Amino acid sequence: MFPSVWISGRVLGALYVAYTAAFYLRVSTAKSKRPIVTSKGQPPDQDALFEYRGLIHVHSDYSHDARGSYDELSRAAHRHGLAFLVITDHNNVDAIAAGEQGWRNGVLLLTGVESGRCEGYMLFVDIESYIHESISSTREALQEYLRQGGFGLVIHAGNCRRAWKGELDSAIDGLEILDYADQLYDCSVLAKLNAFLFYPANRALACLRVYHRPAETLARWDREASARPVVGFYGPNMHQNVRILGWEPKFPPADAVMPLASNHILSREPLTGDFQSDKRVVYTAIRNGNLFFALDILGDSSGFRFSARQEDSSAVMGETLPADVETVFSIRLPRIEDNSQFEIVIYRNGVEFLRERGRELTFRATQAGAYRVEVLTRVPTFFGRGRMAPWIYSNPIYLRP
Ligand SMILES: [Zn+2]
Repeated sequence: MFPSVWISGRVLGALYVAYTAAFYLRVSTAKSKRPIVTSKGQPPDQDALFEYRGLIHVHSDYSHDARGSYDELSRAAHRHGLAFLVITDHNNVDAIAAGEQGWRNGVLLLTGVESGRCEGYMLFVDIESYIHESISSTREALQEYLRQGGFGLVIHAGNCRRAWKGELDSAIDGLEILDYADQLYDCSVLAKLNAFLFYPANRALACLRVYHRPAETLARWDREASARPVVGFYGPNMHQNVRILGWEPKFPPADAVMPLASNHILSREPLTGDFQSDKRVVYTAIRNGNLFFALDILGDSSGFRFSARQEDSSAVMGETLPADVETVFSIRLPRIEDNSQFEIVIYRNGVEFLRERGRELTFRATQAGAYRVEVLTRVPTFFGRGRMAPWIYSNPIYLRP
């Protein structure tokens, strides 16, 4: 009995090594260069907007279930070209009193909080102090944080176990659309197994195996945004901590999570190195939805633009123009140096409005609604030619009567 177990173990081991070796080759693509090759130089930007990449919903040592100091997180963020992190630990803003906020290693570190509510989970950001979740209703908490000048964002909206159960109060400014930890929880057992097995061989491909379009959360966002502006954003929900029978490896590490995806904020003002004014620039762009988010692991999406123009005014993502006036919308992809295929899909109030292949698109509309863009591309898979899935998600531009 024992030798046969030993032999079948060896066979399985050999198969696994052969498999991972095969995918290592396939994946050196994803390791050294990303599937979509964008040029370093940004296309000339007529809007003269400043663009910064960053993450919202990151955990640190200030959470009981996460690891990583502000200093370590800032160094990792710098390695991956991120300009800011909004660190939101569970039920405390102790990092503010500890003087952790500010510029460190070339990265702007901001402190918010993740708060468990009876309806689900929220982030409160741009706040000074935290009232414990047990002593206030969500409405009271929102009123207090609005008084402090801050705002609230719903997270885990589409999580299979912890989805947001309440209404989206009009005082809630935004919704986390893509949460990488939720993507992992919610994907099929086969996808999880695949990702786990191939992670050592090809980290990028393993992470992409788990990725899927968050259809239900997008539908919820579209419903809300058809009535009032609602910000959509990406959250890595990074903890760098798992518990396996008392063993707590620092996994998945920041160096694996940070390159996956990010928010790209757009601002008419640059970051200058002054903490107070830079904090204002970042939070204003987030609160107004002047941002898009993208799977940057597929290719650097910096330079993507979605804008709208009327005779004497214009708008970027998150902004509103009057309806019933001829509006020219334009979408421009970053400068791409290979022959990757893209599909640009426009949704109006969640209904597909236009779908075209290409790298730029212009269309006209007058009807009121929330117009947003998804840019689809071929996502590599372990087998076959890959599958079409969104690379970039814009925030809407609104036409209102
Ligand atoms: Zn979290």
